[in-house]
Amino acid sequence: MPTQSKEYYIRLNLVISAWICIALGSAIIISSGGSPFSFALASPLSLGGIIMLLLGLNMPSEKSVDANIISSWIPDASLLPDAGRPMYRIDTTLKEPIRTSVLCGRCSNITWIDGTKPNSYVCSSCNIVLWVSEEE
Ligand SMILES: [Zn+2]
Repeated sequence: MPTQSKEYYIRLNLVISAWICIALGSAIIISSGGSPFSFALASPLSLGGIIMLLLGLNMPSEKSVDANIISSWIPDASLLPDAGRPMYRIDTTLKEPIRTSVLCGRCSNITWIDGTKPNSYVCSSCNIVLWVSEEE
């Protein structure tokens, strides 16, 4: 999931740069013994660092980004290799509302069903029986 890792690294970079700015700003003030020139140099550096740190910490956390991606995730419509019988893929959501997506490997049609996996399923697009459960 590229969006997740990108957001995460932007945030990480921002926080690291912020700490470097704050550390540099403090180091300039301390090493120069607090002359007016060093204050003029170090103050914007430290201030910038603090602003960056606040921005980095206020960015959406990895967890909320994760949840958004999971709830909006849909399987890609891809053809599955035909292994002598129609192939299919079923994905059921973990959170309410419980929905199940059925990917038909023959025609790559995705159908959403309310609830969990039904006992039998016929692809609505190519009318192939994808599975019939023996539990019936
Ligand atoms: Zn189909």
